[in-house]
Amino acid sequence: MREVFPGVYMMKRTWGSNVYVLPGDNPVMIDAGFPVDRRRIARRLAGFPSDKRWLLVATHYHLDHTGSMKWISESFETTIAAHAGDAPVMEGSMPYDIFKLNLPQTVYYKTLSPLFRYQYVSVDRKLEEGDVLDTLGGLEVIHIPGHTRGSIALYQENRGILFSGDTVRNENGVLEGPPPQFSIAPVESFTNIREKLLNLDFEVLLPGHGDPIIGGARDEVHRMMSRRGGTE
Ligand SMILES: [Zn+2]
Ligand SMILES: [Zn+2]
Repeated sequence: MREVFPGVYMMKRTWGSNVYVLPGDNPVMIDAGFPVDRRRIARRLAGFPSDKRWLLVATHYHLDHTGSMKWISESFETTIAAHAGDAPVMEGSMPYDIFKLNLPQTVYYKTLSPLFRYQYVSVDRKLEEGDVLDTLGGLEVIHIPGHTRGSIALYQENRGILFSGDTVRNENGVLEGPPPQFSIAPVESFTNIREKLLNLDFEVLLPGHGDPIIGGARDEVHRMMSRRGGTE
């Protein structure tokens, strides 16, 4: 786990999403990998000396971002937080969205489905636009539906950092929007990127997948939108 920005640690190469850890008086973990990542994640968390309750935040309900939450919540003192639009899926009262996958993808996910079983958690804190998480001097919840109903970004103006979940991903050095085959309304995601995220003042992007961008991140997102040629 390396400190990618002062106070922000990242666990890379989980099977699922990037996992960010913000230790301190109000320790926070952002996203939680697949279920198979759970032991590694728990070991890393245990390495941060803290008798405080961890806030586990999901940028959205997808399994690659929430897979280890159940297990971690049983091993540590935790509060689980997610946007109110996605909490019902995490709690099992609303179904996981069905995606249109091609044949190889269908075979792949069916074969591996025992590894990918969704484990429901109760979401202790239902987040809304404008809520502020009390860590790193305040992380603001930005609601950016499109990838899922309750996708969020987390933003801190003072330090110019943005956690973008799957709405902006870094694919081998090239920024991309959410994967369309796994998104309920990708066009809405791009509208939110343009109208909400690009109005924020950030230099550092901490995406759900791929390397962080430290410096010039807003310009990079702007370039990503320009590549779309304004067709969104
Ligand atoms: Zn996702
Ligand atoms: Zn993801």
